[in-house]
Amino acid sequence: MKCQKCNSEMETGFIPDYGYMNEGAQSQWIEGEPEKHWLQGVKQKGKKILVIDTFRCISCGYLEFYATGKEGKAR
Ligand SMILES: [Zn+2]
Repeated sequence: MKCQKCNSEMETGFIPDYGYMNEGAQSQWIEGEPEKHWLQGVKQKGKKILVIDTFRCISCGYLEFYATGKEGKAR
């Protein structure tokens, strides 16, 4: 994969999400608008959830995010 900004190589990574139990899981994409739930924070059940892969340009540091279809899970 090449950087859109400077055409250098990009390396794979991910952005950890420490929001739940401090577990450092991979960030996820969730469809639709966030709906607040009084007990569980933002509602996630019944929504499409995909894991976000992040690519970083080794030259300029540009980040690119992809939710390519690896299914995440409600937290
Ligand atoms: Zn770049």
